[in-house]
Amino acid sequence: AKRQGRDAACMFSVEQMQELEDRLVLGARLREAIPRGELELHYQPILDAGRRVVTGLEALVRWNSPELGRVPPGRFIPIAEALGLMPEVGLWVIDEACRQLRAWEDAGLDGFTVAVNVSALQLQRPDIVRQVRDSLARHGVPGRRLEIELTESSLMEHVDRVQGHLADIKALGVRLSLDDFGTGYSSLAYLKQFSLDRLKIDRSFVMGLPGNADDAAIARTIIAMGHQLRIAVAAEGVETAEQADFLAGIGCDELQGYHFGRPAPAAEIQARLPRA
Ligand code: C2E
Ligand code: CA
Ligand code: CA
Ligand code: CA
Repeated sequence: AKRQGRDAACMFSVEQMQELEDRLVLGARLREAIPRGELELHYQPILDAGRRVVTGLEALVRWNSPELGRVPPGRFIPIAEALGLMPEVGLWVIDEACRQLRAWEDAGLDGFTVAVNVSALQLQRPDIVRQVRDSLARHGVPGRRLEIELTESSLMEHVDRVQGHLADIKALGVRLSLDDFGTGYSSLAYLKQFSLDRLKIDRSFVMGLPGNADDAAIARTIIAMGHQLRIAVAAEGVETAEQADFLAGIGCDELQGYHFGRPAPAAEIQARLPRA
């Protein structure tokens, strides 16, 4: 038992060392990533479930580091948060999305929204409202073209402050979307409280469709509840035609996933965008 204990302690510290090293190495590079122009947004199409036309894009950040290669957002965003670098990354994402929206509008591409992911910490910071307002103004983009994706957990802490920020952001015409719905500590009270425009059914409930009866029940329930509350419902992680047809059949409003397109650079996604 003693040996086992020592091994366990040892493994724990090796893991911790690796995590620490990851943080130090990535953190040091990440500080330079924005000034060096290493961040990029990729865009994934979101389609109207009935008409199957692109109604929106989700912007997903990419980090192409010359030293580290492509670092996935799931790995560097938590580090950016821990090191206090997230305000810069988050600000860059919002501003870049607005810049791109402007460029597309100038090229005659209009009538779709761009959704950006905003982290819990970002949402708590007092300057988030000004950041969104400034980026929209700087690039001359109407608020209704922009959408903010938040997670359930980001609505849980500092509720009053977050609610105030979201109300101010909504007043700019920006839409609010609740991401990964069903995976967090959902409280149905949030749905009432935050005047959301869209719920996104998490990929984990879409994966088992159409065969898995539990997933089907969950998807139906989320859609019915969303519609009762006049909130549009989108599904993420749609990978097959069967999933798409099933979701459309049970009234899901919008579909997103590899079946319709992977996240791609702006220049590649452009051909799929509606013209004004
Ligand atoms: P998310 O917001 O849930 O984004 C969806 C993720 O699922 C993306 O991964 C996307 O590439 C992937 N995906 C889309 N369709 C499919 C599909 O059909 N099948 C499968 N297996 N996967 C699919 P990605 O780009 O690696 O992003 C991971 C997460 O990182 C995002 O999850 C989001 O939470 C976070 N993230 C990405 N960009 C940003 C950002 O600019 N700011 C913040 N705060 N978080 C971001
Ligand atoms: Ca998202
Ligand atoms: Ca999501
Ligand atoms: Ca998800």
